[in-house]
Amino acid sequence: MSKLGLAVILITAIFSLGSAASAQESPRPEDGYFQIPTRVAKGVWVFVEPSFQVQPIGNVTLIEQSDGLVLVDAGGSPGAGRRIVEMIRALSAKPVKAVVITHWHGDHPQGLSEILKAWPAARTIATAPTQAHLRDPTTMNTPAASDPVADATFQKQVQGFAAYARQMAATATTRGNAAGWLATERLFNQYSLDMKGATTIAPAESFAERLDIADARTPIELHFFGRANTDGDAVVWLPTQKIVVAGDIIVAPFPFGFGSYPADWLTTLARVRALPFRTLIPGHGTPQHDRVYLDSVSWALRDIRSQMAPLASQGLTLEEARKRIDVSAQLRTFAGSDPWLRRWTNEYWLGPIVTSAYKEATGQPIVQSLKGG
Ligand SMILES: [Zn+2]
Repeated sequence: MSKLGLAVILITAIFSLGSAASAQESPRPEDGYFQIPTRVAKGVWVFVEPSFQVQPIGNVTLIEQSDGLVLVDAGGSPGAGRRIVEMIRALSAKPVKAVVITHWHGDHPQGLSEILKAWPAARTIATAPTQAHLRDPTTMNTPAASDPVADATFQKQVQGFAAYARQMAATATTRGNAAGWLATERLFNQYSLDMKGATTIAPAESFAERLDIADARTPIELHFFGRANTDGDAVVWLPTQKIVVAGDIIVAPFPFGFGSYPADWLTTLARVRALPFRTLIPGHGTPQHDRVYLDSVSWALRDIRSQMAPLASQGLTLEEARKRIDVSAQLRTFAGSDPWLRRWTNEYWLGPIVTSAYKEATGQPIVQSLKGG
């Protein structure tokens, strides 16, 4: 080999090393960020985000009817929406004729813009409270129409999350937490790309208690059983296949409790439980074939409410009450001894559900917003 040839190889190697070191790393398959199509019955698939993510992407359910496809939720970002369009096209040549959004939290409707680019004639449906939130700029953190200033602000925030995750990985005291933070940094790198130009689209149609999408083989019932995780959670029921799509009324491996309604959630859960389902598709996590996990969510809600009632009636402040609530059984149930899951069970479930239970017990309003409250 000539000296010139070697020099060219060395320079190329140094260059590629430099760009690899400065490039933002994307999620790895084992991070579980990207949704995976899973068939749950003939003509019914779920695009599952298989593990808990700090920035979650809700499960998306695809249901085939004779004249088209019905989608339940739309993915948590435009990027997720584009991947969902690809996955749908690989499974069926039929068009998406309707998209049902289970609730307003951004990890469920943010892919809708991309679904509608692919199938502009699709109906868009939610409960009336969910439709109202998706129309309300004081609830949502992405604009109704493309807005470069809002986009730049959002991007800066997500890149800040990635930098924070990198810092947390560097100072983590357990190997599990260090690995979790590094995966979270990769997740936010991808989420930043996925959320470029994100807009919130409000469904055009709403329903109060029930709306049917008829079909001979796969009829679909949309229900509102009452408030639960939000004030407008839709439940989708396939009576022939005995499949219930629960939205974030059920989320695994631990529930999400932000701005939720503990007492109503229990009543709503009882109505979901009364459906003769064989498969329950949660808002996050893998499909379930029994009622064990549903019952542990009911237990967890009852446990927090019954511990809170005497504390609230003694006139304690929220922070005083929080210190006296014993969450050890809940941590064991939902996270076992995994430090990463225990951390996020605290952040996504125990922290916010204690707040909601306190507000409920003291008669304070529970606010639905991504902008604090
Ligand atoms: Zn969710």
